[in-house]
Amino acid sequence: AVEDVADDFDLDIELERDELITLLDRAMDLLPPETRGLLIQHYVEETPQAELAAQVGLSTGAVGVRIHRGKLALRKALVTDLYSEAVAHGLVTPAQADWVETRMWCMRCGKHRLQGRFNHAENFLHLRCPACYERSNGVGTITYTHNNGLRNIKAFKPAYARILNWCYAFYLEQANAGVVSCQCCGRALPLQVGLPPWASNFPGDFSDMRAETIIYDWCDQCKDGAGCNTWSSLALSIPQVQQFWRDHPRMVKLPERHVEIANSPAVLVGYANVTDSAKIEVAFSTNTFEIIYIG
Ligand SMILES: [Zn+2]
Ligand SMILES: [Zn+2]
Ligand SMILES: [Zn+2]
Repeated sequence: AVEDVADDFDLDIELERDELITLLDRAMDLLPPETRGLLIQHYVEETPQAELAAQVGLSTGAVGVRIHRGKLALRKALVTDLYSEAVAHGLVTPAQADWVETRMWCMRCGKHRLQGRFNHAENFLHLRCPACYERSNGVGTITYTHNNGLRNIKAFKPAYARILNWCYAFYLEQANAGVVSCQCCGRALPLQVGLPPWASNFPGDFSDMRAETIIYDWCDQCKDGAGCNTWSSLALSIPQVQQFWRDHPRMVKLPERHVEIANSPAVLVGYANVTDSAKIEVAFSTNTFEIIYIG
């Protein structure tokens, strides 16, 4: 249950300095003295890592690793011995289902299985890679939603596949040259590229995404949209790419490339198998959002 700590857990951002001192004080008996000392020096006294490194005769990298380990130890204490304090500080969201390891591999690093968590009441599926999540300072949890389509589903891969199939139908099959219909009022909505209007309400979901990779629809009348997607996940929703994924479960995302195909702007995305050279690429027209090429 270590991962129960809020997604954007960051000591110096989440806590006022005196809250942090109190918490570290309470954690004193739970952390090794060196760890506690390091956390206090770094987060409370704001001693730069380089200075700490010089003090203890270690490299800056080694001190960084120790601070990170100390943070993990504290996080562990927060979800066990210090649980009630952590809840009180909003560092832990209580009554949330635990993260569990899924069978799906991370498509970013290809090295770890994704962790998943359902919120059936809100119809959300959350997926994240434990390593990529740590590396990016606790951002990179991807939230998926599917109107009522996730209510009765408990398995992660089928839930994800259901979402992908819905995306394929909505963004590619039913769309007409990049125009979709508002889910509420039926009005024609041209797909947009960039940060969606609701991005500022969910900074954690967007902080590690580049705006030019995001596709969304927005209805000004309903003040609502179906959600947002990326070129890569749009490619993943295509049946041939989903088949490639079934055949190569451990595949990674290829970097997105902007190209010209037949004098029109296009984006090339794809996935490559980790263990051999197999890959699949998809080109989309960035004007019409249509598939130009799969292979
Ligand atoms: Zn990863
Ligand atoms: Zn509408
Ligand atoms: Zn609406």
